Amino acid sequence: MANITEKREDEFFNDVLKYFDRAAKFVDVPEGILDQIKYCNSVYRMRFPVKIGDHYEVIEAYRAEHSHHKLPTKGGIRFSSAVNQDEVMALSALMTYKCAIVDVPFGGAKGGIKVSPRKLTEDEMERITRRYTSELIKKNFIGPGIDVPAPDYGSGPREMAWIVDTYATFFPGELNAMACVTGKPVSQGGIRGRTEATGLGVYFGIREALNIKEDCDELGLTTGVAGKTFVIQGFGNVGFHSAKFVFEGGGKIVAIAEWDGAIHNPNGIDPLALEAYRSKNNGSIVGFPGTEKIDKYAALEIQCDVLIPAALENQINKDNAERIKCKIIAEAANGPVTPEAEEILTKKGIVVIPDIYLNAGGVTVSYFEWLKNLSHVRFGRLGKRYEESAGHNTITVLEEMTGKPATEAQRKMVERGASEVDLVYSGLEETMISAYQDIRNEFKNTPGMPDLRTAAFVVAIKKIAQSYNMLGVFP
Ligand code: NAD
Repeated sequence: MANITEKREDEFFNDVLKYFDRAAKFVDVPEGILDQIKYCNSVYRMRFPVKIGDHYEVIEAYRAEHSHHKLPTKGGIRFSSAVNQDEVMALSALMTYKCAIVDVPFGGAKGGIKVSPRKLTEDEMERITRRYTSELIKKNFIGPGIDVPAPDYGSGPREMAWIVDTYATFFPGELNAMACVTGKPVSQGGIRGRTEATGLGVYFGIREALNIKEDCDELGLTTGVAGKTFVIQGFGNVGFHSAKFVFEGGGKIVAIAEWDGAIHNPNGIDPLALEAYRSKNNGSIVGFPGTEKIDKYAALEIQCDVLIPAALENQINKDNAERIKCKIIAEAANGPVTPEAEEILTKKGIVVIPDIYLNAGGVTVSYFEWLKNLSHVRFGRLGKRYEESAGHNTITVLEEMTGKPATEAQRKMVERGASEVDLVYSGLEETMISAYQDIRNEFKNTPGMPDLRTAAFVVAIKKIAQSYNMLGVFP
């Protein structure tokens, strides 16, 4: 059983720098431009008082904008008692590379509020979120063309609704106010498909990796998600949705870990039934019928095909890496595998699908939400009925030409127009497949390329460098 080592407060950003430096050796970009890309452009550290219960507490919070090579900058807001400046900076850097990899035209940013949401009432959370937003407004750290936050660990659509409401109050009449934050509830300008976007992107990424026969052969796996065994750490937004899509794709989830314990069933766990159980069981997954309770860290060491860490960073480190027994680690969380652990895993032949690619589904659909807010029209609104009537005409012509009536199922299939969620899923699927192919091509075709993560960083650095390549002098 492993205990997770606490990292020093300056280690996560250093880890990102290490990854960057390793990748920089493979690109032909001038040193000064590399330095400009690598470090954090602006970090705003704030402290503000908020009434908690019957007393005032000083809340510590951050917003880091890592790169302004494209605007706005973009990244979630984390609500956690473990938040610190190093973590926020590291996560903002990962956002820069992530956006570049999936061709989302944003710079990277990240926010953090050092509180434990579990210990706060809804009113207290609202006061903190609104106050944080007004601090961002004061320093020009939020706006549709400046910096656009989103949900992250410990936050969701509710917090995003408070943010947009606060912003719109400060800027009455600003036509694009809705685009100041993404991940909003649909009724507040959000987009259908955003809630599940990161988990769905994780699924599309894993499915793409498992579809390539040559790579599966190297790992001793057959192709396809169906029948593969999965272990998932974290059953929050990303973990639950990853589990749901993996399950629907035929994967067998043998263990799920949460903060208060893990559950194990070698015959498979149904994530929808588990979610229903949790909502009736004080928010705990422990005790789910048919499963055995095991230690939350021991779950990571269970033999399986794919391990999906979907909780926090630093979960697979030098202390437990040797005992990890999966074939693929799919980094749904940000930074769950440390560089030291990755060296050990690579020696063991374990493939890591990196976070800067794999969990980019959230920011991809956030980008669609931002576009929707700026265009002030729901995707699919103009085309849906037209496509349906074109499909109806096609089936009528086919019936006349063949003299045979179409079945109800055939009619339904052809007469379907794309709704907002259909378009969002389709855009996300295309993004995740093509980005995986870019990274894999870089990995396979560059001599000495050590792993997929370095290849992903190379893809990102090359794209970002082009923004500074005003004279077109480097490739
Ligand atoms: P969340 O708060 O919804 O879920 C996190 C879950 O992890 C919670 O249920 C929590 O109880 C659980 N957890 C905490 N400590 C644990 C432990 N030691 N063992 C097992 N479970 C534990 O957060 P989320 O939005 O799902 O984010 C999870 C990760 O994914 C974070 O690293 C985040 O940065 C990353 N991420 C999130 C998004 C997004 O769209 N939400 C996008 C990209 C990346």
